[in-house]
Amino acid sequence: MNQEKVLELRKWMQKNEVDLAYVSDASHIGYFSGFDSNPMERVLALFIPLEKDPFLFAPGLEVEDAKASSFEYDVVGYLDSQDPFSIIVDEIKKRYGSPKKIALEKNQLVLDRYLRLTEAFPSADFSADLTPLVQELQLYKTEEECQRLIEAGSTADLAFEIGFRHVKPGVTEEEIVAEIEYELKKKGIKQMSFPTEVLAGPNAASPHGTPGKNTCKENELVLFDLGTIVNGYCSDATRTVACGKPTDHQRDIYNIVLEAHMAALNAVKPGVTCGQLDKLARDVIESRGYGEYFNHRLGHGIGTTIHEFPQIVGGNDLEVKEGMCFSIEPGIYLPNDVGVRIEDCVFVTKDGCIPFTKTSKELTIL
Ligand code: MN
Ligand code: MN
Repeated sequence: MNQEKVLELRKWMQKNEVDLAYVSDASHIGYFSGFDSNPMERVLALFIPLEKDPFLFAPGLEVEDAKASSFEYDVVGYLDSQDPFSIIVDEIKKRYGSPKKIALEKNQLVLDRYLRLTEAFPSADFSADLTPLVQELQLYKTEEECQRLIEAGSTADLAFEIGFRHVKPGVTEEEIVAEIEYELKKKGIKQMSFPTEVLAGPNAASPHGTPGKNTCKENELVLFDLGTIVNGYCSDATRTVACGKPTDHQRDIYNIVLEAHMAALNAVKPGVTCGQLDKLARDVIESRGYGEYFNHRLGHGIGTTIHEFPQIVGGNDLEVKEGMCFSIEPGIYLPNDVGVRIEDCVFVTKDGCIPFTKTSKELTIL
């Protein structure tokens, strides 16, 4: 159990007169409880009352793993043949009586689970929303969380190294993805933080493209966007490399993106706003005439999930503070031509920032 985070949660509960918090998002359950799991369609839930001990509710097949995690309170399990919500309701009543105000994750909790709770506690107030609080808490990472993000970053570097070794004319995007994930799995890295992207040539012009039978070709760029999950924390990084000698045009696009990336990266320090960072990078790209081809925000927070707060986006006046962790990922995507993105996630120190990934950002020629 992460006592520090739970204390913050309880302060918020007290202020908002909430007597029970229901954490339903699996990554947020991992964040508070220390038990990381993907329950898929089964029910995993964390109940934190204002005063008494919390309990974790988990599918029966995960109960032993949950007990072996750093969560030191009761774990209640259910079998696939049982109705999870009748057990949950009984447990809440037995442990906490009839809560008057129950806070939920409103951007996440599915409707049928919400209805089961409102039916069981008809006089309870369900107006309190945990979502903004969790987003706020996740803005800042503790030293321990930073350590996990550093580890996840270094396995992303390893993934680049493996991937780059396989860039050759004639090799397909999906073959390179397979090599990366096979090598990582052999080294004990169980999970990528999102489907690995390897996009060759004009395919890289789609920022969220899907790797397929398209092959690497001489004198084309290849974009790698990948990340791993280590101890529940994610990495997310992008490099664009050249297969054989790049053309002047490709090199030109690459250098503009690199300049934009470095302009934002070098400006990161406490006091700058998220919107200013986005603008610094965007100004570089716009001044060269490619503004309309940088069609997404500059970055996003990272932690137990790959996209969390802060949003590094135009108009966001939120000030950067020490302990924030987020990506800087400008790109230029010219349809049917070339796509370049350079992405590092960084953590903010008292006078700057340090990237989690160390792979060179000079244009690598393979
Ligand atoms: Mn990203
Ligand atoms: Mn990415």
